[in-house]
Amino acid sequence: MTVKKQLLHFAAVTARTLHLWPAINRTGVFNRARRRKYPDTLVHLDVVITECCSLKCRDCSNLMQYYKSPENLDPQEIIESLKSLFCVVRVHELKLIGGEALVSQKALAEILVYLRDEARGSYDEIRIITNGTIMPGDALVKVMKETPGLTVVFSNYGKLSVRKDEFSELCRTQGIDFILNPEDEYWWDYGRPVKYNATDRQTQGKYAGCYARRLCTSLYRGRLYVCPRQAHGIRLGMMPEAEGEYVDLLDTSLSGDKLREAVLGLTDRKDFISACRYCIDGKLVKIPKAVQISGPLDHEQ
Ligand code: SF4
Repeated sequence: MTVKKQLLHFAAVTARTLHLWPAINRTGVFNRARRRKYPDTLVHLDVVITECCSLKCRDCSNLMQYYKSPENLDPQEIIESLKSLFCVVRVHELKLIGGEALVSQKALAEILVYLRDEARGSYDEIRIITNGTIMPGDALVKVMKETPGLTVVFSNYGKLSVRKDEFSELCRTQGIDFILNPEDEYWWDYGRPVKYNATDRQTQGKYAGCYARRLCTSLYRGRLYVCPRQAHGIRLGMMPEAEGEYVDLLDTSLSGDKLREAVLGLTDRKDFISACRYCIDGKLVKIPKAVQISGPLDHEQ
């Protein structure tokens, strides 16, 4: 670790220990720094292409374990949403996610063709996030090879990721960039999606220190959300419909400066969102990753 990184790490640990994140965040210092470095750019965007997954992880922070009838999403609606977004901002890192993205290969290929042919100047990097359980078909491999800036990222769940070696070898031979994450990672516990008894100050603290709200701005069913947990929590009826906490990219009355302001305002947001009341507090508890269950969980249990 370089000296600069060591100092930053020490400052972050000190801020967490002294519960300084809410106060630091409210100054807007991070938002201003990000906006200076990436003007009119979303640094990270998670594009949800399916609710279906080939694994059943008990502690999925995106709440996939609660879907009883998960669906593959309409690629044309996703493309229309991206077109609307790209009219007003660029995206630095665009992630295509599920569920498991490879479950919906036809949609994935269709979206990649759009990004390759019509949106090349609107993003810097594309990442396909996969759990390494499904091999891509020939049509998908072809478009993956032809899409500039594309990297396949394997969430490595050890033995559960049964096709990761075969898939990563295919990437290697086909000249597709890939990253195989280390196997021994853990997850942070976000808790069950129930309303927790926290004060506004404590909830602000969760939001300020939250990894998801900084790295996982999410496009889901035409709406842009601060984080995927809120997007799916609302869809599943576990969290309240949160007017003013998302941007409807398919709303034709929103365009130009108004849309840009709404999009950047969402990603620069300082105040917590209502969904943060449904996350466990910010104690950063580590849990084993990808513990499997046999079927969908019942929210009420
Ligand atoms: S709801 Fe709030 S605390 Fe929970 S993951 Fe999303 S931004 Fe973070």
